[in-house]
Amino acid sequence: MSDNILKIQGLKVAYGGIKAVKGIDLEVNKGELVTLIGANGAGKTTTLKAITGTLPDCKVEGVISYMGQPLKGSKSFELVRQKLAMVPEGRGVFTRMSIHENLLMGAYTRDDKAGIEADVEKWFSVFPRLKERAAQMAGTLSGGEQQMLAMARALMSHPKLLLLDEPSMGLAPIMVEKIFEVIRDVHKQGITVLLVEQNAKLALEAANRGYVMDSGAIIMGGNAQDMLHDPRVKAAYLGEE
Ligand code: ATP
Repeated sequence: MSDNILKIQGLKVAYGGIKAVKGIDLEVNKGELVTLIGANGAGKTTTLKAITGTLPDCKVEGVISYMGQPLKGSKSFELVRQKLAMVPEGRGVFTRMSIHENLLMGAYTRDDKAGIEADVEKWFSVFPRLKERAAQMAGTLSGGEQQMLAMARALMSHPKLLLLDEPSMGLAPIMVEKIFEVIRDVHKQGITVLLVEQNAKLALEAANRGYVMDSGAIIMGGNAQDMLHDPRVKAAYLGEE
């Protein structure tokens, strides 16, 4: 049996005349933390949106399989039921619901009441700022606090695969560290992660494998530690000589 949870073959996405993704292949195996790095506009978010079926009306070709089944055209709620969770760029929390309600929404496919409450308490202990603000509307949280909430909400669904779109974007360095600590922890607990990041150094340090995307194509892929020491990656993505 194959080990991959996610397999993308020949994915092409075009927004009108703009070819955002030009025929990529990508795999994520069970238990791996895989990162997809690349410059602005490389096509990373488009790739994640193709996986979750949340692209706007545009031309999509190729095959995306999740646990051996084709995923194309799936609705978001169906993805959650299939244990696939996404934390989008810009977080996507329910701004007019409280922090506590947001967490419960993440668990809407579960019916183990005691387990859900235990998980809420767990995330409140990981992110004490959320606990202090449990009754507050999520829209009043800072960007970093919304990122914590979005991540905790996604994990409330007990996903098998967690997709993260630029979790460090716009966060203060101390918050970036905290978020990456949680990502590494979640991975250690056995959740498979596909992490899109512009902070290539942190992402490769946390990952097992990485892919580099440039102008809609995957131009490099391999062991994350090797990539950290690759002169081309160093020069183009790590700001090193
Ligand atoms: P970033 O790191 O800046 O978020 P990215 O690698 O995630 O970049 P995408 O957001 O996937 O890149 O964008 C890839 C290309 O597709 C870009 O040229 C972008 O302008 C274009 N694009 C993205 N969304 C749309 C859209 N809805 N309509 C038209 N073009 C789009």
